Amino acid sequence: MDAQDFSVEQRKINLNMIQELTQKIQNLPIEEQLEFLAKEFEGRIAFSTSFGQEDQIISHIILSNNIPIEIFTLDTGRMFEETYKIWNITNKKYNTKITAYFPDKNEVEKMVKEKGIYSFYNSIDDRKECCNIRKVYPLTRALKNIDLWITGLRAEQSVTRTDLALLEENKTFNVIKFNPLTKWTYQDVLDYIKQNNIPYNELHDKGFLSIGCAPCTRAVKKGEDIRAGRWWWESKDKKECGLHVDSKVETRNLKIESSKIKL
Ligand code: SF4
Repeated sequence: MDAQDFSVEQRKINLNMIQELTQKIQNLPIEEQLEFLAKEFEGRIAFSTSFGQEDQIISHIILSNNIPIEIFTLDTGRMFEETYKIWNITNKKYNTKITAYFPDKNEVEKMVKEKGIYSFYNSIDDRKECCNIRKVYPLTRALKNIDLWITGLRAEQSVTRTDLALLEENKTFNVIKFNPLTKWTYQDVLDYIKQNNIPYNELHDKGFLSIGCAPCTRAVKKGEDIRAGRWWWESKDKKECGLHVDSKVETRNLKIESSKIKL
């Protein structure tokens, strides 16, 4: 397989390519999947971490095996102190320097001046504006020269992710998205972290299962959905920040047009 065949820049991304890649890697262990893709997409592959438990697993695998994949995070400016701590711990443990992308200061200053420091509580539109400025636009910069984007998403995390595929096209950022943990259960995640002694955000032990920005995340109660603590004032089916919004639609398309894919 010629790596050039997978250049999104050349607009060759298509369902056949994703189907072919899926067939090649779907039965490999996660380490080998990452190694294979790192070779195929050399210099054009990146992993975005928010330092949640799933992301810590992927960082651990990449960094422990010296797999040449860029790791970056989006520092929104509204993160928990505990998240900065685990970022620092991760850098030290694996002797690495995770790249940070920040929002455009002019856009943040304008939004805060016009709408206040808690504008995201006003309406879904204002919340999405904040997510766009603090997350989506910086992610656009981070993925500018990237063709394959790795995420720590799992299908069982929320109703907006139930159709999540192993590999899928992401039209928003014009990349192929690789979700190696899509089939993992939360128990799988906990077991892997324990067995491999992977450092994780201490908020997870205080009921924070999915951790985003501090003002938009709360601990979940027993029996609540994993992502119930994110934007808890909004309805379940709207709770995405814009980073992963088109996954469901595209996965559906893939299933219709590539019925042989078994994920
Ligand atoms: S999660 Fe909240 S604070 Fe963070 S970018 Fe979105 S709206 Fe803004």
